[in-house]
Amino acid sequence: MSSTAKQRSAWRDVPSEQWNDLRWQLSNLVRTTDELGALLGLPERELSAIRAQSQRFRWAISPYYFSLIDPSDPSDPICRMVVPSADEDTSEGEDDPLGEKRDQVAPGLTHRYPDRVLFVVTSFCSSYCRFCIRKRNWRHSDAARSRAEIDEAIAYLRAHEEVRDVLISGGDPLTLPHEQLEYILSQVRSVPHVELVRIGSREPVMLPMRFDDALLRLLDRHGPLWINTHFNHPRELTEEAARATEKLARLGIPLGNQTVLLAGVNDDLPTLKALFQGLLRIRVRPYYLYQADPVVGAMHLRTSVERGIELIEGLRGHTTGLAVPTFVVDAPGGGGKIPVGPEYVVERRDGAIVLRNYAGETFVYKDPTMTAKSPRKRALPLIPTAAERDGE
Ligand SMILES: *Cc1c(COP(=O)(O)O)cnc(C)c1O
Ligand code: SF4
Repeated sequence: MSSTAKQRSAWRDVPSEQWNDLRWQLSNLVRTTDELGALLGLPERELSAIRAQSQRFRWAISPYYFSLIDPSDPSDPICRMVVPSADEDTSEGEDDPLGEKRDQVAPGLTHRYPDRVLFVVTSFCSSYCRFCIRKRNWRHSDAARSRAEIDEAIAYLRAHEEVRDVLISGGDPLTLPHEQLEYILSQVRSVPHVELVRIGSREPVMLPMRFDDALLRLLDRHGPLWINTHFNHPRELTEEAARATEKLARLGIPLGNQTVLLAGVNDDLPTLKALFQGLLRIRVRPYYLYQADPVVGAMHLRTSVERGIELIEGLRGHTTGLAVPTFVVDAPGGGGKIPVGPEYVVERRDGAIVLRNYAGETFVYKDPTMTAKSPRKRALPLIPTAAERDGE
């Protein structure tokens, strides 16, 4: 049997019951530069740079996630995502690259698209990513939103009947105490026109032991839910992570994944292919691949947009379509997500369109012209929404 990451790590002597215990993980977070020095054998020069970084942006790493780092690899991809480094130049990049503050309509609530909102309910995560687009929030506190703030956001939802989809995010909403999560989910659910509740969480990656029976029961009580998780590298696809996604899938929660394209972490085809195929094996459907935004101190982790397009081209047609996410660029200043991808239309002619397939062969496709008569469409009967049912 192959050894697990833990068995090869500094925590190899910690008994499994402790290792798999959420409280043990949370009370043993790696969060001092001295520990980092001892665990990774970093030179003093690097450590003093990290000490200086810590003043600006906090860091903390769960022992579980830390155990995925290979300390002998100076360019380890897991390390690059969570360990501060001398490469971080805080004179470049933005605090709020997506302009979320500007579109905020209530505490934590960003209403940018016509029918859905983003609800940021905490700034806490059990490990912090250097490239996080919301690292501006870390400075304030660990604290989750107060009852009064949540109530204000819920009042906005009640008053805006066009909102049919609420995306609960953070920080990581699944790090919240159950009582608080229960309150938020039940309040959001109580708004009659909200049809869809989604949770964005990196806990299946950072701390899969979070998914104990109590949390699963809580999530089940407030279903139907959709969960989007955030795997960035195939090495994150551990047995523990697979057990967590398996439990969620068995509750009937559809699982999607959002990956951030990161230089030196996952910006090559074999890594991305292994990640997306591996996600399908643990019942998670790759949803978005994000261009890394110009976040302060994380500019060295960005790739070109062209690179992302090339990578998608290397996947589409070459592997299972379900393993190919949509590549998106978040427009600066709150323009929202814009899908970008390879162009398969080679030429537009009168009555025909020239296409190329994944292997580069071209085809002339006879295209029915817009003037052709098509029968009038009849409206299809729809499953009534919760609001319509209640109104009957
Ligand atoms: C990403 C995002 C959403 C959800 O977008 P989908 O494309 O529906 O997944 C909603 N609101 C904001 C502000 C977002 O950034
Ligand atoms: S888990 Fe998500 S919210 Fe938390 S630090 Fe990482 S990217 Fe940011």
